[in-house]
Amino acid sequence: MSNGDLDPKDWDAFRSNAHAMLDRSIDKMAQADQGRVWTPLPDDLRAQFQTDIPRDAGDPNALMADIMPYGVGNTHPRFFGWVHGAGAPSGVMADMAAAAMNVNAGGRDHVAPVVERQVLTWCLELMGMPADGSGLIVSGTSMATIIAMKVARDRLLDDARARGVKQGQLVGYTSAQAHSCIKQAFDVLGLGTEALRVVKCNDQFEMDLNHLRELIATDRAAGLMPLVIVGTAGAVNMGAIDDLNGIAGIAADQDIWFHVDGAFGAAGLLGELARDRLAGIARADSLAFDFHKWYQVNYEAGCVLFKDEAAHRASFSDRAEYLRGSERGLAGGAFWAVDYGPELSRGFRALKVWAHLAEHGVDAIGATIDRNIELAQYLNARVSREDALQAMAPVPLNINCFRFVADGQDLDALNDEIVILLQERGIAVPSTTRLNGELAIRVNITNHRTQESDLDLLVDAVLEIGAELIG
Ligand SMILES: *Cc1c(COP(=O)(O)O)cnc(C)c1O
Repeated sequence: MSNGDLDPKDWDAFRSNAHAMLDRSIDKMAQADQGRVWTPLPDDLRAQFQTDIPRDAGDPNALMADIMPYGVGNTHPRFFGWVHGAGAPSGVMADMAAAAMNVNAGGRDHVAPVVERQVLTWCLELMGMPADGSGLIVSGTSMATIIAMKVARDRLLDDARARGVKQGQLVGYTSAQAHSCIKQAFDVLGLGTEALRVVKCNDQFEMDLNHLRELIATDRAAGLMPLVIVGTAGAVNMGAIDDLNGIAGIAADQDIWFHVDGAFGAAGLLGELARDRLAGIARADSLAFDFHKWYQVNYEAGCVLFKDEAAHRASFSDRAEYLRGSERGLAGGAFWAVDYGPELSRGFRALKVWAHLAEHGVDAIGATIDRNIELAQYLNARVSREDALQAMAPVPLNINCFRFVADGQDLDALNDEIVILLQERGIAVPSTTRLNGELAIRVNITNHRTQESDLDLLVDAVLEIGAELIG
């Protein structure tokens, strides 16, 4: 028995504690559809964390078991807020194995790079991208986007890594419905948020390609360098999918990098219902998406993929002497993640993604995605039957935006209050957004546990609370 200073003194006691924790974890997962959706952390539990620095040994296990009900609530079938995956019990197995191995997946010749490279190979194929492309598993789409924008920058200006860029020199384009992480990437990379042009949307909330062409022409006439066009495959507000093939054509004509934000929507390529509208992803120079959303991999894991491995590598590889690879020994190995992104030390995220795909198979995951798309249509039909509800946007994918209407009311304030009460009463968790300046109740369905009855319960509660509030 190993007995380093931080190893258990009593392995049998450790084993029985670990079994007890596993049982608590399994109970939590098996009862995901029970009880309240969101419950705020009670004060007494909060206080148990807000202590002085622990100087002496203690027993944190009981407290860890006690806090399990107080997460975001996204494992529950009536969690519809923002875009959160619901996760799967299978993820716990891989996290146990990964924690026990405690590998650093930054590089070298061991199992983690092999698994990561295999997952990336599968993803390139699933997304229709070239087999000799590349990629990296990262924390999420926000990080994936920063990496993609940097590779685009360095392909356009091959001395940018050493010399940086001139203020205002590079400009990019994305739609008014695009996620804020794109703007953030422009900020982080020093390009400036104003360099990201906001392209108008049509009445389906998709990028207006005529406006895109105009903006590019204006910038070129002013002597600026178009860096990237970012298409959205599944916009966060209401699920719009840009005309990706149309954007790809413009990008190709103009020799501009084409990036797709497919955070949740790209997963639609695993199913049938959205596949045709997503096919343009195959033409992207880079794609960012999440495993922790519609794939249902447990938090957190996202991915960035590139058509051109050489461009990807050229933007990051610059290993210090002490990290030099070798032909043989542990410093060998073909895939060193550190050559493809800004992180050196990294955990074995790839294992839980691999295990998830291997356990369920991509067809079953695709079927849950199609089912969510059908549920969004079910909800849309129910909304259109209710006089007190008004649809606020089309429902092209898995997100419904609607509101409760009543004469003589401040509808923004009323609907905001309805959503807060739904959350506080533990009934359901939708979120809110604004569309054309008006507040909408936003119901996002990226949840393999949601059933028709959950949506009916939600609508019934909206009607009830709405009636209660207007008295
Ligand atoms: C969630 C989301 C992001 C950000 O992804 P993270 O994994 O949270 O970093 C970006 N774009 C869209 C469309 C999203 O839904």
